[in-house]
Amino acid sequence: AKADGRGTYRFFETGMDARAQARRVLERDLRLALQRDEFEVYYQPIRDLEDDRIVAFEALARWNHSLRGLIAPNNFIPVAEETGLIVPLGEIVLRKACADAAGWPDDVAVAVNLSPVQFKNPNLVTSVKAALQASALSSDRLELEITESVLLQNSEATLAVLHELRGFGVRISLDDFGTGYSSLSYLRSFPFDKIKIDRSFVTDLATRDESMAIVRAVTGLGKSLGIVTTAEGVETDAQFDLLRQEGCTQAQGYLFSPPRPAADVAKMLRPAPER
Ligand code: C2E
Ligand code: CA
Ligand code: CA
Ligand code: CA
Repeated sequence: AKADGRGTYRFFETGMDARAQARRVLERDLRLALQRDEFEVYYQPIRDLEDDRIVAFEALARWNHSLRGLIAPNNFIPVAEETGLIVPLGEIVLRKACADAAGWPDDVAVAVNLSPVQFKNPNLVTSVKAALQASALSSDRLELEITESVLLQNSEATLAVLHELRGFGVRISLDDFGTGYSSLSYLRSFPFDKIKIDRSFVTDLATRDESMAIVRAVTGLGKSLGIVTTAEGVETDAQFDLLRQEGCTQAQGYLFSPPRPAADVAKMLRPAPER
């Protein structure tokens, strides 16, 4: 198989399962990309809904492929997870994110996504500490986003790691809230700092009563538990207004900005135009 330079991969071998083959090629390319430092981190602002201030940026991985251009994470994170390459990749994102954030104003945090696979790595805590030390970023400016699936696997060990991370000041967010099977019980098992309301509930917030009711319940839950709530995927003024009205704490979405390269962060931090 060979990358043909037009954004697709062609396969010459016969008798091989095309999907398995595509995966092998992707795995090989991911290894090369790690060696060649082709991964970049983009940043999407997260705004406080009360004062409109940018309180954090979420770090989102991008693969700057030599032939195919910029590749979004959904196209490579799953294979990186299957092959274990998410461990070195996740470490690169973490290190770049901490280093970039160290250059931002002191009251702006950075949120980094952690894959369940990274929790199987016994060095996770050490590498988080190392990234903070190398960048001299204060630990309270680092947020780590995990999904419920992290708690699904080996939850005793995972909880111990989460407590250790939180013990030295890192904040832990529960990502994609509401999309799993037993979200509520996880809120009892660990003192999360933040709940991120999944985009699927925000998308039809203004048009479906059910989504509105769910967002209202989650923001209420956040308030009674003292947990920050962040709405993902805010695209319209109507969604923004409803979220603010419901007392959701923060929002993130294309309405404010898509994820942009590190060099654009300063531009994004300039005061927003009056809305
Ligand atoms: P996520 O953690 O839920 O990140 C939010 C995703 O929603 C991002 O997609 C972001 O670009 C997109 N998004 C933000 N606002 C809007 C909006 O208003 N409308 C719509 N339609 N989309 C919006 P992205 O960057 O493609 O990342 C996709 C997923 O890949 C992330 O979902 C996360 O699960 C994963 N991912 C990205 N970077 C990393 C990483 O460094 N490590 C790990 N483990 N996973 C990552
Ligand atoms: Ca996330
Ligand atoms: Ca999310
Ligand atoms: Ca999501």
